[in-house]
Amino acid sequence: MHDDLARLPGLLSGHAARLLATLDGRPAAVPPGPRTPPRPLPPAAGLEGALAEFASRWEPGFAGSAGPRYFGFVTGGATPASVAGDWLTSVLDQNPATRFDSSAPDLEEEAIGWLAELLGLPSHTGAFVSGATMSNTTGLAIAREWLGERAGVQVADEGVAALGEITVLSAEPHSSVRKALSMLGIGRRNLRIVPALPGREAADVAALEEALAALGGRPAIVVASAGTVNTVDFDDLRAIAALRERHPFWLHVDAAFGAFAALSPAHADLVAGLDEADSVCVDLHKWLNVPYDSAVQFSRRRDLQHRVFHNNAAYLGGPSEDPLHLTPENSRRLRGLAAWCTLRAYGREGHRAIVERSIAQAHRLGELLTAAPGWRLLAPVRLNVVCFTHDTRAPDDIIRDALPEAFFTPTTLWGAPGLRAAFSNWRTTPDDVERAFRALSGYPAEAR
Ligand SMILES: *Cc1c(COP(=O)(O)O)cnc(C)c1O
Repeated sequence: MHDDLARLPGLLSGHAARLLATLDGRPAAVPPGPRTPPRPLPPAAGLEGALAEFASRWEPGFAGSAGPRYFGFVTGGATPASVAGDWLTSVLDQNPATRFDSSAPDLEEEAIGWLAELLGLPSHTGAFVSGATMSNTTGLAIAREWLGERAGVQVADEGVAALGEITVLSAEPHSSVRKALSMLGIGRRNLRIVPALPGREAADVAALEEALAALGGRPAIVVASAGTVNTVDFDDLRAIAALRERHPFWLHVDAAFGAFAALSPAHADLVAGLDEADSVCVDLHKWLNVPYDSAVQFSRRRDLQHRVFHNNAAYLGGPSEDPLHLTPENSRRLRGLAAWCTLRAYGREGHRAIVERSIAQAHRLGELLTAAPGWRLLAPVRLNVVCFTHDTRAPDDIIRDALPEAFFTPTTLWGAPGLRAAFSNWRTTPDDVERAFRALSGYPAEAR
């Protein structure tokens, strides 16, 4: 191992440099084929041997998801500075759970402050978690504790049964909200879907108010969406927040990627009112373009958050605001460093440019599809996702035929099968949009 340590910089930088240089040429995704069978642990190969085997056995099956033409899900790339920050995270291997031994938690706090500034969340405190699912779970755990506060019980101590009936209202919640409700003991069935506006995925606020009024003053949780995954629709956050004047509820906003609309002055209105939310979920491994394993949970009730997540032990000292008392994890990697690096390197201007380019590219693909025979948009392009279908070709066939050039994922919108193209990678250029369109159109590979 000591020999490997000396050779690590050379071996790794060569390997990673080759991967970075060839990212554009990788298949956007590798279609499902025969599974690579697991092998029993072979004799030790050393670092060089391990990297060589990784390159030959595993790399060919990996997706170009960090590259410019992976349009599935909402998949951000990784800016150069964020990759550097991520590498340094491994090299330094800090555990930012406490402030006992380093300033690492303060670096994360600075990064969270920068994000709060960019996203217009001056009244919130934040904590790093692994992704938006964890951010939603953490926000809803604080919501659950707030229900307890209203009922005069500490759910953290008494358990969720002490709450009795729980109602969660939402128009178009992300699937991870249901998962979070399951994990939190609230239960998937206690989610009640409120009607959306006609032809929209945004809540009908009047219908939401009716549902709240029907609770007769019993406090509830409302989950609003700031960016749905199919049509990137936004709930009217200001109008929903204003309902709290008449009805008691905790407002959790899932703004996993939509929060970044705040960076584009032309689109910032979509997230107006975000600061009024009690808790907000923001993913960073999507539109901020940091490597996977990064999201922030913003909250306005750190006291309740602490009540849920505190992890007191003699060897951890007394009560504090150290990160381990704020989220499900205790020990963890310093995931804030990748975000810190990209924000410091590219600032508001650089990240605004990524967001605005993505939006322009989604609109461009929407125009190309609208003008071409057979294609139909299932919804207008609102931000960075195009949701579309073809009159005669099945989505799965289209997805297969577009590979290896570009990758799209299937969906269903209002009962109609379709596809999604999500733009959120800093590497994507206008030429990539044209190439993606040609791949969709089924041009023979050599003509693309
Ligand atoms: C992606 C996404 C999530 C889940 O995020 P993960 O990072 O996969 O945990 C939740 N909500 C919305 C709106 C999303 O787009």
